This record gives sequence, structure tokens and C-alpha cells, in this order.
Amino acid sequence: SYNHPTADEIYNVVRAQDDKISRGTVYRNLNLLADAGEILSIKTPGGSRFDRTIEPHAHIICTSCSRVIDVPLPFDAQLDAKASEQIGWHVTSHYTIFEGLCPDCR
Ligand SMILES: [Zn+2]
Ligand SMILES: [Zn+2]
Repeated sequence: SYNHPTADEIYNVVRAQDDKISRGTVYRNLNLLADAGEILSIKTPGGSRFDRTIEPHAHIICTSCSRVIDVPLPFDAQLDAKASEQIGWHVTSHYTIFEGLCPDCR
């Protein structure tokens, strides 16, 4: 899915195909896939989302309906290094999540 579903949304889809599968199995496998770099885990307000697009990219979340889509902006791969220089930390990653209203909610 490219719709940035939550673990619960994925569980409900899988559950419709296999009524014996447990929530724990789905959550565990999502985290395994994310740890292995097969999918992206995105921390959004309200919980984690999962993304089949693994290249770093920005997101926007609708503050009304919680829909998440990609924002096609150039990704600054040097931003971690720039932040490290500024603050003296070892910065390892960053997330860009915009907030706003989607066309349906506006
Ligand atoms: Zn919306
Ligand atoms: Zn995405």
C-alpha cells in the first residue's frame, strides 16, 4: 500500500483474508519489515504509519481526517550533517511532516 496505513488498518485488511491471524503477528512483522528496510515506518501525530516507498521523502498529514500523503520536495541528504555541525550532536536522521487540510476537508 502507498496510502500510509496504520498497523491497525493493515491488520483489518489482513484479518479479512485470514481470520486466524493475530494482531501481534501483524505488528511484529511490520516492525521486522521496517527494521530490515523493506518498508518505512513513519512517526506521525497519532501513531506510526507504514510506507512501501522507502526512499526518504516528506509527508503531510491532514489535521482533520488524518490522511497522509507524500510531499514531492527535494530531500536534503546533507541536513543531518548540517544540523550536527550547528549543535554538536551526532544527528542520524530527521523527518519532515507538514500539517494542513486536505482538499476534502478544506
Ligand atoms: Zn482531510
Ligand atoms: Zn510516503
